[in-house]
Amino acid sequence: MTSITSTTLSDGRELIYFDDAGSTADRAAGPADLRGLPPRGEPGEVRFDALTGEWVAIAAHRQTRTHLPPADQCPICPTTPNNPSEIPAADYDVVVFENRFPSLGPALGSIPDHGTWGTKGPAYGRCEVVSFTPEHTGSFSNLSETRSRTVIEAWAQRTAALSALPGIKQVFPFENRGADIGVTLHHPHGQIYAYPYVTPRAAVLGAAASSFHESSGGRETLTGSLLRAERQDGSRMVMEGENFSAYVPFAARWPLEIHLVPHRHVPDLAALSGGEKDELAHVYLDLLKRVDALYPTPTPYISAWHQAPLDPALRASGYLHLQLTSPRRAADKLKYLAGSEAAMGAFINDTTPESVAARLRDVVVPPASSATRASTAEGVPA
Ligand SMILES: [Zn+2]
Repeated sequence: MTSITSTTLSDGRELIYFDDAGSTADRAAGPADLRGLPPRGEPGEVRFDALTGEWVAIAAHRQTRTHLPPADQCPICPTTPNNPSEIPAADYDVVVFENRFPSLGPALGSIPDHGTWGTKGPAYGRCEVVSFTPEHTGSFSNLSETRSRTVIEAWAQRTAALSALPGIKQVFPFENRGADIGVTLHHPHGQIYAYPYVTPRAAVLGAAASSFHESSGGRETLTGSLLRAERQDGSRMVMEGENFSAYVPFAARWPLEIHLVPHRHVPDLAALSGGEKDELAHVYLDLLKRVDALYPTPTPYISAWHQAPLDPALRASGYLHLQLTSPRRAADKLKYLAGSEAAMGAFINDTTPESVAARLRDVVVPPASSATRASTAEGVPA
């Protein structure tokens, strides 16, 4: 079992240690954060975009946040005498803490469901950082299966905890990997956003899921039916496990896009069984290793966990799944979101989903190392 210990940083932010099964670390006796940080600021703003009916977070205060610090000043490496980092311990396995420069929060509360021109409110919510490993270099795909399982336990525990906070409408665990897609820290890490509104993309997916579910008389889910169709067709499958399968979707938008879907209908990571989480620790690593084996240098990606929003109207049909996407279309080429995509949301994919799936199925994955340490994966393509 993962052991979980919640502590508090010097400015009152919560920091939680998730220690691997079998760890003997005694966190209760661990060192305190002695940095004497200044009190936390007020939240930014959310403004209602009357043109689209979407909320926009205005977080200009984040301009001062840490940007690609040198390795010896990394804020998520373990604390040393010369680097009093965010994590006041000499070692750790997985750590989750409240972001010091959050887009949402730290205050919690409710914002209106709808607005008009001029409607705004505090950017309530919570933004957390998830450090996957104490090692500064490497990436998720280099983690051991035990560590991967600990990260999944952290995602599940945080999903449950954040879903219970006042005013939260959706919880989103994700990882941005690679400076090309905006990563501001090289240390392998992810983030979790707890939003005070249903995000635009979740609203679109939620409406489609809900309408499908209703028209089937509540017997079928949209994601479940797509999973079945892809497995029957087979041409875009990447892997099939006992509890999870991964495929390139029929109408993939990105040059590299993979959906990893549980076979059982669950709304979120918190609803997975222990056995499902065990298998996920393996299949998620396998998927990332395949992505990393496609090119000689690490491929930038966004790994996005789509979880059912907390609105009961979207909850029944909402179906947990991962969407992993990358703008990389060749060893030395990235796709940029230009006119059609950025302005119109109309994607043009320069690859075929079937050929990408075949490459991912056939790629030779290097054998797993028993250590969690990375070998060659530092940095990203320039
Ligand atoms: Zn680091």
